Amino acid sequence: MPELTALEVCRLAPSQVYRALATTPQGLASDDVRRRTLRYGPNSLQALHGMPLISRFARQFTHFLALLLWLAAGLAFLADALHSGEGMATLGWAILGVILINAIFAFLQEYKAERAVQALRSMLPAQAWVLRDGQQQQIARSELVPGDVLVLEEGEQIPADARLTEAVGMRVDNSSLTGESKPQRRSADPITDGHPLDIANLAFAGTTVLSGHGQGVVFATGLNTEFGKIAHLTTTVHTGLSPLQQEIVKVTHLVAALSFLMGLVFFIIGLGMGLSFWTSAIFGIGIIVANVPEGLLPTVTLALAIGSQRMAARKALVKHLASVETLGCTTVICTDKTGTLTENRMRLDRLYVDDLVVESREGCLFTRNRLITAPESERWRPLFDAIVHCNNAKRTRHPDGRSRTTGDPTETALLDFAADHGLLHRPPLRRMGEIPFDADRKRMTTLHWSEGRLLAFTKGAPESVLPLCTRQQGSSTPAELTVDGRKKVLAQSQAFAQQAYRVLAVAMREVERGVEQLDADTVEQGLTFLGLVAMMDPPHREVPDAIKQCRRAGVRVMMITGDHPLTALAVARKVGLAPETTATPLGHFVPVIEGAHIDTFSDDQLRQLLTPTTPGEPDPIFARMAPRHKMRIVSALKDMREVVAVTGDGVNDAPALKTADIGIAMGIAGTDVAKETASMILLDDNFATIVHAIEEGRAVYTNIRKFVTYVLASNIPEIVPYLGFGLSSMPLALTIPQILAVDLGTDMVPALALAAEPPEGGVMDDPPRPRTERLLSWDVLLRAYAFLGLIEAGIAMGGFFLYLYSQGWSWGAPLDWASPLYKEATTVTFAGIVAAQVANVFACRSDRISTFRLGWFSNPLILAGIAVELTILLVMTYSPVGHLVLGTASLPAWIFGPLALGAVGLLLADELQKFVRGRMGARLPLQAGGGI
Ligand code: ATP
Repeated sequence: MPELTALEVCRLAPSQVYRALATTPQGLASDDVRRRTLRYGPNSLQALHGMPLISRFARQFTHFLALLLWLAAGLAFLADALHSGEGMATLGWAILGVILINAIFAFLQEYKAERAVQALRSMLPAQAWVLRDGQQQQIARSELVPGDVLVLEEGEQIPADARLTEAVGMRVDNSSLTGESKPQRRSADPITDGHPLDIANLAFAGTTVLSGHGQGVVFATGLNTEFGKIAHLTTTVHTGLSPLQQEIVKVTHLVAALSFLMGLVFFIIGLGMGLSFWTSAIFGIGIIVANVPEGLLPTVTLALAIGSQRMAARKALVKHLASVETLGCTTVICTDKTGTLTENRMRLDRLYVDDLVVESREGCLFTRNRLITAPESERWRPLFDAIVHCNNAKRTRHPDGRSRTTGDPTETALLDFAADHGLLHRPPLRRMGEIPFDADRKRMTTLHWSEGRLLAFTKGAPESVLPLCTRQQGSSTPAELTVDGRKKVLAQSQAFAQQAYRVLAVAMREVERGVEQLDADTVEQGLTFLGLVAMMDPPHREVPDAIKQCRRAGVRVMMITGDHPLTALAVARKVGLAPETTATPLGHFVPVIEGAHIDTFSDDQLRQLLTPTTPGEPDPIFARMAPRHKMRIVSALKDMREVVAVTGDGVNDAPALKTADIGIAMGIAGTDVAKETASMILLDDNFATIVHAIEEGRAVYTNIRKFVTYVLASNIPEIVPYLGFGLSSMPLALTIPQILAVDLGTDMVPALALAAEPPEGGVMDDPPRPRTERLLSWDVLLRAYAFLGLIEAGIAMGGFFLYLYSQGWSWGAPLDWASPLYKEATTVTFAGIVAAQVANVFACRSDRISTFRLGWFSNPLILAGIAVELTILLVMTYSPVGHLVLGTASLPAWIFGPLALGAVGLLLADELQKFVRGRMGARLPLQAGGGI
């Protein structure tokens, strides 16, 4: 195949383009595709590589907290050099070990989180429509080759550089190449000169079709496209931190500052007690190291990534981690109707033609249960012609021999009807032009040659088409459309709408020759009304339950549809969004607001309309909405500080998707533009999936609280020995390396297991969490420090003294730090904390549901975490390595009895607390307000 440049192909006439690129209007043959794939390679650009792994690993050693630890290690080694002994070098090595373990752990978590996000992205393979072997088919964009005939529709991203051979009302957004966001008209006419990017018959990879449709022949793929040449592939992976991650960074810095202060206090206490300068310094450093929550940020990131994976498994693809948490705070969902609440499988059920309601059943037509024969229905030929020809859906025969219809669901329903009733056998009328459908006009018109006449067919919303009609098709000839006739049609249209049908009016006219100029004002007037068509789109089965769940979860649901108010209300009733009767049990009326009303409202009035005055009052239903109305509603809700999730599929929905807190695009029916703008994609287009995603979003947040509570709780038994030591003559019950072993050894895996908890029963019974709610609320702190932490300290210190007394020690007696008894006693404290944390991990699985009700085996990761925790404890207690690194000593078995009893005591105390608070009706943290 000859290789042609943009400037060469743009000069050719459409018919020459095929020849020049060695292809045909029916597309390439399969053999040819294979050859060209070998020659030109895949149509893809190598993604720019991110930071190399090694430098990302290195970064783990240089962040703020790591630097703090380096300083601590440096001081320990310096102390050892100046003042040998007292295990300072060991401490230095231990801190270095901490830095390394931390870095590996953080790196692995970040890596895993990133891989999870990338895997999600690859779940949405980019597709393109092409003609090959005369068939229209969908292929992966990477499989395109030069010479392929592309079929382009509104909202699609253009997959390769193409010379347009057909363009109907086509405008493109070239801003990804030129930075100019004004829509540009496209046509198929040859052009001789200009800058390639400005040439109107070329469509470039990476740009999008804003309106209209067309066809084009690919002349450049992959790196040869203009986009490839610029090669600034923007990987849309969002790298910024989510608000929760930012909060965690703040929290870690705050806790680090507090630890630093505490370290300083301990240093001064040490000096005051007559310890040497360096010994006191080491105390201080130990306290800092022990309390800095190094692992928090990577664990939060991983929790968000796990959440996004879970959502993907439930068919909701989240593009940015930040959306996972925003979903959890959603207070209002603004949803489309078609496809989201309904199945998007429209079927033409009824016609209104010639003053008759005609039913379509199994390929036959009936009126009042009387079968209508084919010759009888022949008089409705103009209506059938309009249905078939004022239509951009396509029927293609698949290799399995069956025909399938693709395109806009409304038009697909019309074409399927035509196929079922054998209306597609007549030779097609040549199409001369089209005024495309748009959501504002709510109608479309096509122009055709038929037996020497130029005919215009129009179809659209009845209130958009009927005013343009002056005549009505009778059984044989058209007659004037009288006021009464018009009323009758409107009444029938309303009757259909009340039964949840989507209704279209169909009309035609003969256009005088010479009206080649296809503008709406000239063509769409003096039409002859042909009939109404009524299409049914059944609701998704899961939607009514999902809506009930939203009610319980305090999430409001507003339907925003372009359909007729009566259709909207009827569908709302079917799915449980509106009560069965016009007046609700509370005496309210279901407000159905039309786009035209919205235009007359001031912003204040709109906000008033959107504010619920009494609980139980139904939310308004918005019908006949154009995208700009949707945008106004979303903005007003956002002004009211609601957290808004909005669904959308078309190009025009992009602004609303962008403005919303969570823009949700349809994965099946959505355009590339909508998917690009949205922050979440519904792989199954189903409303119920949004509700599942909200549930997962809420679960992620509560899980993060769970492991933060778990990790913070063990700080108290770590600090109490030092307070006791500093403030009384008590021996020091826990050494610094032992503290590190808890924070960076035994605590790690159970904390991760908490991050992976499945959603707790009842997460959807609470109102949405306020966005301003802090992660570290007073509730979390009180539970972690003042309740769980204090009990843990009791267990650990109790174990320490029990062991000492059992060995004949008494209060005030000297205790040599190097003696076996001291080593054994500190090991008991260490073991006591670990035992308490085993119970604590169960306690933290919920802050209000009894552990006994949650079941012991519902999260196997918890059991694995405990197994790891106990293994570390045993290795550290009984192995020479443990003795060397942590200064531990082997313990007699009996001491584990009282420690285990203590652990059981903690769990029971927590159960009692949950029971009492449950009885008092107090809602735990989810409703807790302000934080610190
Ligand atoms: P939904 O909320 O159900 O998804 P929508 O907001 O997408 O609906 P539109 O597609 O904008 O609604 O359609 C609005 C109205 O325009 C429809 O009720 C119908 O009367 C008319 N209409 C829809 N599709 C077409 C079409 N292909 N040709 C002509 N008229 C159409």
